[in-house]
Amino acid sequence: MTAAICSRCGADRGAEENPAMVLAWVSEREGGMSRWLCPRCARDHVRDIEGKLPPEFWVPDRD
Ligand SMILES: [Zn+2]
Repeated sequence: MTAAICSRCGADRGAEENPAMVLAWVSEREGGMSRWLCPRCARDHVRDIEGKLPPEFWVPDRD
């Protein structure tokens, strides 16, 4: 099995003891490389992405 280290905090996927947490790790493909994010950082990462979206994105379309 390939070693998977969180690209944000350096956590080791192999050190995760809870199988549910192991499954919650996220792999991202970027330029042919796989990056891993631990569940905690994945959550923060998603929040980062959402924070960059224009506010209009979240406003329901009402005419
Ligand atoms: Zn992490």
